[in-house]
Amino acid sequence: MEVTVQIFTGGFSGASVPFELIEQKLLSFINRFRVTKVIMGWSVDKPLYEKTAALLSKHNIEYYLWFPVFSETGALKNLSPLVDYTGSSIDKSDNNPDEDFFFCCPNNRFNIAKITDIFNENFASIKFNGVFLDRIRYPSFAGEQGKRGVFTCFCPECIKIYRSENFDIEKLKLSLCDPEFSLLGLKKYLGSGMYEFQDKVISSFFQIKRNIIYYSLQRICMYFRKKNYSIGLDVFAPFLSQFTGQDIVKLSGLCDFIKPMMYRTTCAPAGLPFETEALLQQTCGTENDNYKRFFKLLGIKPEYPPSAYDVQSGGFKNKPFDVDFTVKELHDLSLLSFCPVYAGIEINRVKDAAQPDPAYIEETIKAYSKAGIRGFTLSWNLLDMPEENIDKAVQLFSS
Ligand SMILES: [Zn+2]
Repeated sequence: MEVTVQIFTGGFSGASVPFELIEQKLLSFINRFRVTKVIMGWSVDKPLYEKTAALLSKHNIEYYLWFPVFSETGALKNLSPLVDYTGSSIDKSDNNPDEDFFFCCPNNRFNIAKITDIFNENFASIKFNGVFLDRIRYPSFAGEQGKRGVFTCFCPECIKIYRSENFDIEKLKLSLCDPEFSLLGLKKYLGSGMYEFQDKVISSFFQIKRNIIYYSLQRICMYFRKKNYSIGLDVFAPFLSQFTGQDIVKLSGLCDFIKPMMYRTTCAPAGLPFETEALLQQTCGTENDNYKRFFKLLGIKPEYPPSAYDVQSGGFKNKPFDVDFTVKELHDLSLLSFCPVYAGIEINRVKDAAQPDPAYIEETIKAYSKAGIRGFTLSWNLLDMPEENIDKAVQLFSS
């Protein structure tokens, strides 16, 4: 198994971290087993990246810049926002200086040029082997704007695309008010992120969004390819990817590795319990019957009790997201993917967001190892990984 480690150094406008801390944490891994890649970002702190580059090159480890694309970049450049179906733009909030989750329109070519400029101005002189592209999507149901953020974008550029595809925007608006639209009118889960919908207008809408993300990403990847960078992509778990505009199988053809975030116990963006709750919340409600209905549709075994979900704590109280289902997701993706799949698992502990312990790490790594994947990405921040979690991971990868 190949092992990649992720380090979060703070947002574009956030405070950075001391190199000594990165060094100490990294050595606790790399002195004990082979790490193939380190992904680090995205504070604007050139000396920190340079010192880390020297350390990694000494240990023959590939170095990737963790670079958010359609969100966060708004902190450094003025980007055109997403526009909702009522015609109002979704503007930035000032909640968190490190991560704002404000998304710009991925279809706007000026946005794309400004995003690549951000790389060029801040990171191009540092010796990275590659870039790891994150936030390559639209907002999910868990985003601050909920459903309003998912049913975007209706800016003039995007409307042009809908027209050229003969997509009926008025019909979409009608469907959004239809009571039959409960749980998006999902009929069947076909696997690898694809669903059958009751209403054709909904499936075409998500299809157009997937195309927009794909073609914009193609341009961005071309920019990095020309500069000889390797490329990794951070994507949602397959069953959630559809609602964010990600066709992950197709996207896997653009890069050198793909990291589906298979966070079974994370109650923060991309976490499976968190995103599932938000999807239900925004489309039908989080009553037990709706959980049962959705889990049945996904093929999660019926004995899996939706009641284990604890609304108070915002997570699955005693039980992380179903492991057999997540293994199947990884297995199906590995068969179809055009590049190696590195499963993303959460090793760090972050208050109110993720509390994995060694038992969870053991269960997850052992199960995912049988899914046909090429490796793991230990996520999402080495600096918040407790020693006992690191020890468990080291023990499993060394055995
Ligand atoms: Zn747009």
